[in-house]
Amino acid sequence: MLLDCGEGVQRQVLAHGVGLNKEMSILITHLHGDHVTGLLGLLQTMSMAQRRRPLHIIGPSKLADWLKVTSTLLNIGLTFPVDFSPARPGTILRTPDFRVRATRALHSVEAYCYVVEEPGRPGIFYPQRARSAGVPEGKLWSRLQRGKKVEVDGRTVAPSEVTGPPRPGRKIGYSGDTRPSPRLARFFSGCDLLIFDSTFHGKDGDKAVERKHSTCVEAAEVAKSARVRRLALTHFSARYTNVGSLVKQARSVFPPTIAARDGLTVDVPYPDS
Ligand SMILES: [Zn+2]
Ligand SMILES: [Zn+2]
Repeated sequence: MLLDCGEGVQRQVLAHGVGLNKEMSILITHLHGDHVTGLLGLLQTMSMAQRRRPLHIIGPSKLADWLKVTSTLLNIGLTFPVDFSPARPGTILRTPDFRVRATRALHSVEAYCYVVEEPGRPGIFYPQRARSAGVPEGKLWSRLQRGKKVEVDGRTVAPSEVTGPPRPGRKIGYSGDTRPSPRLARFFSGCDLLIFDSTFHGKDGDKAVERKHSTCVEAAEVAKSARVRRLALTHFSARYTNVGSLVKQARSVFPPTIAARDGLTVDVPYPDS
């Protein structure tokens, strides 16, 4: 899952060993250069690597026009199909592994925020309970583990008899460029990881309003009211040579805050772990 594709992304993709032929979805928040200029190069590199698998791209509808025009002008033929879904508020993509929902961001052009959610998982399976219920080990156990009822000696055993309560999947939120708002806090409610616009320091709040971005404090306030587990600040203005003070300020509002940086790996545990 690639969230936006600024210049230099393909270099990072190669540097961090992200497979070019893997199942992948690319979510583009809006058509500002720092979010989209790397896309064409990445698609070309995928073609050079003989990618065959379809690639999902979600973004504002004009993104499809931009891709079409530039690839026609530059004579770029891709070795794989692109499934493009125009972004709009609501659920945009549903696969067995995750779904993608969007809402409008508050930025200077048409822009979207996204959440990527895993489906809930069945509860923990207790072999002892299955044995006591007379279910022999084997196929019937795996049916129960998948949340299906089974028949044993004319009696029905429900998954709830042998498993714990269903467990929620993980949820990751990504703001793109936006002003904060209570509506966005509701949209990001309960995220295990929220990646949020933190272009400005709290002391530069007037610039954040003017340029339709957020400050580190505003990002932290959204994270706090959305009751997320962890906040990653991103999209820092180049005016700040050291983002440490932005993180510090955000932590005074929402302690579990980190700064995103190139190559950072973040472990996202399941909500119940
Ligand atoms: Zn922007
Ligand atoms: Zn931007």
